[in-house]
Amino acid sequence: MEIFRTAAEMQGFAEARRLRGQKISLVPTMGYFHEGHLNLMRVAKKAGDCVVVSIYVNPTQFGPTEDFEAYPRDFERDCRLAEQVGVDVIFNPDNREMYPDGYQTYVEVLETTKNLCGLSRPQHFRGVTTVCAKLFNIVKPHTAIFGKKDFQQYTTIRRMVSDLNMDLEIVGMEITREADGLAMSSRNVYLSTEERKSALSLNLSLTLAQKMYLDGERKSAPIIEKVREMLSASPFTRIDYINLCDARTIKDVDEIEGETLLALAVWVGKTRLIDNMVFNENS
Ligand code: AMP
Repeated sequence: MEIFRTAAEMQGFAEARRLRGQKISLVPTMGYFHEGHLNLMRVAKKAGDCVVVSIYVNPTQFGPTEDFEAYPRDFERDCRLAEQVGVDVIFNPDNREMYPDGYQTYVEVLETTKNLCGLSRPQHFRGVTTVCAKLFNIVKPHTAIFGKKDFQQYTTIRRMVSDLNMDLEIVGMEITREADGLAMSSRNVYLSTEERKSALSLNLSLTLAQKMYLDGERKSAPIIEKVREMLSASPFTRIDYINLCDARTIKDVDEIEGETLLALAVWVGKTRLIDNMVFNENS
């Protein structure tokens, strides 16, 4: 497995592989791998001849009071795990490589970023779309794999790729969960034992919503109300948002009709967790 730290090296490698007719697949990450990341890499291996994983904690997607400095990092372990899955290249630039002096260009997707995490993290998606656009130019992938755990990010990246005629395919992967249902996240290491127990309420409340849906409920308000009750009853929780919205536009809906996203963001102690469920997928 090769490790590149400069855009020039990465671009040279990618161009050579393309000239050989190889298909490149990219998994963009911030590192500190768990099984969710490894599953994206496994899909990337099936999608292409050459798998590139980027490991970069991107400062432009963190707000001034967020956990950029504290974000967990373990580069050596990440490399070992990626190599075991059969990754060909790790791209691991530093901030000076990605945002050198004089840097002033950003990509913004206007509508899909307005709701949900866009409300509580105002500059977040501008950072995400900018770094992904840069990674696509640097790694030149035919396919990039994203997790639907960050559903709004996945929708926003698809919008950007379509709007800017970027020549690659975006693939979305289902959420990987722990055996007890907690969605895997690098941030789960912040949780104490008691907080981790309480964090199960996110998945449990999604399951409750699904049961209501299967029993015929289609109105957003009663579903959101039940989810709110269940989350509030759990200790250490503070709800950031609970929304039912159109999965493509990320605009709130009053009723579940087409593909509809139930999205949650909940603080458990000092850790902000997100989770979601999609109704009527691919409708
Ligand atoms: P991150 O390193 O947290 O920025 O995540 C890198 C990629 O892994 C993103 O596309 C995430 O959506 C995806 N990802 C993170 N956690 C999970 C999970 N539990 N299941 C599926 N994909 C995930």
